[in-house]
Amino acid sequence: MKAAILHGPRDLRVEPAADPRVDADQVLVRVAAAGLCGTDYSIWTGDRAVAYPRVMGHEFLGTVVAAAPGVDRVRVGGRVVVEPNYSCGRCPLCREGNRNLCLQRTAVGIDVDGGFAELACVPARCAWPIPSGLGDEDALLAEPLAVVVRAVDRAVPLAGETAAVLGAGTLGLLALQVLRARGARVLVVSRSGRRFGLARALGAEATHEAGQGAADTAARGFSGREGVDLVIETAGTAEAVSQALALVRPGGRVVLTGLPHESTPVSFFTVVRREVTITGSMIYQDEFPEAVRLLAQGLVQGRPLITHRFSLDAIGEAFGAHRDPASIKVAILGQGAA
Ligand SMILES: [Zn+2]
Ligand SMILES: [Zn+2]
Repeated sequence: MKAAILHGPRDLRVEPAADPRVDADQVLVRVAAAGLCGTDYSIWTGDRAVAYPRVMGHEFLGTVVAAAPGVDRVRVGGRVVVEPNYSCGRCPLCREGNRNLCLQRTAVGIDVDGGFAELACVPARCAWPIPSGLGDEDALLAEPLAVVVRAVDRAVPLAGETAAVLGAGTLGLLALQVLRARGARVLVVSRSGRRFGLARALGAEATHEAGQGAADTAARGFSGREGVDLVIETAGTAEAVSQALALVRPGGRVVLTGLPHESTPVSFFTVVRREVTITGSMIYQDEFPEAVRLLAQGLVQGRPLITHRFSLDAIGEAFGAHRDPASIKVAILGQGAA
């Protein structure tokens, strides 16, 4: 097969590689589409360390071309989207259901080889069948959508509540759609107004460009009260965390999905005085089927978020496109992507 193999920071070569061997309980997937995200970018630059050589790519889907004996949850020839994280299944965290928090968690495309290749091998339990009506370019967003489904549901939105989404990248534009599917009204807050047209087309009722007037005033105007009921933070910056606290009403909920690497000042005075609940949300536990359902039912659209498409041979350009301010989701499409 052909694979994009990372030999070191910024040393990514598309070259022939041995076909992955199908071990027990695994399936072999012919990759039809793979998404590129900030995690891949930070691995590519070397900011995030991996063992070399490594095939990146954790957001991908394709057709099952082989399965280990006894695998019956997916069939050879069927289309699947890959849940690229699996846990040890034995530790106390796994046994109590917190498998996303397992300290021995394995991430496909980071700890083991992933989907920037013609073929990828994954545990069968990580392969979710794609409903027949769901196209590859929508299904491609299933992985980041699963992240967002968990984040939104940890805020327990009620129909008619008001929500603010911080950030208008892939996660923000997906969070907006999940909140709409849950019946919430949504204000999108972003540093740039570039994606507000798309945000409105995907169901945002209001938008606010950070820095153009006070965001807390916008949140009060939007909610018609002391602030929004809940905030989903997807920007991953220290400033977004304090902004979330400024937008939420007393008694409201804030869910953080971003991972700011810089230290984050938090006004705990505000947290106590306004009795705000701050919740972290880490990837997903059991949200993959719900993500696939939302896409299959058209309640969330993935395809409008794909701004750039490249072949595997042009993956070097794809990494450049990821940094293009106009890019949202960059996709690597194999032959025959639907
Ligand atoms: Zn990703
Ligand atoms: Zn575990």
